[in-house]
Amino acid sequence: MAMPEEIVGLLRSNITIKWPDGHETRYRARDLRLACRCAMCIEETSGKPLLDPASVAANVRAQHIELVGQYAISIRWTDGHDTGIYNFRDLRANCPCDACVATRRPTPR
Ligand SMILES: [Zn+2]
Ligand SMILES: [Zn+2]
Repeated sequence: MAMPEEIVGLLRSNITIKWPDGHETRYRARDLRLACRCAMCIEETSGKPLLDPASVAANVRAQHIELVGQYAISIRWTDGHDTGIYNFRDLRANCPCDACVATRRPTPR
């Protein structure tokens, strides 16, 4: 998986990732916070969500974004949560833009 060329999202309501192929992925900051898969947010054994979406403020923002190796970023959020790691493959695979959502939709027989 190629590294993004640019990640812009500090203290913004959207986090935008520019990929080397020119594609742009934009997540709402809160959506990404809610998508956290760390052990505090998702029960490891069952996959049960532990994070109550109601506990995440509407205006939560990324306070610090750090590269993890060549494959992921970790984000410290303004609510103090900092254990989530988001790998580039998933960030791209879950891209919420119309074009990507359309390709993920199962094709009708
Ligand atoms: Zn988490
Ligand atoms: Zn997309």
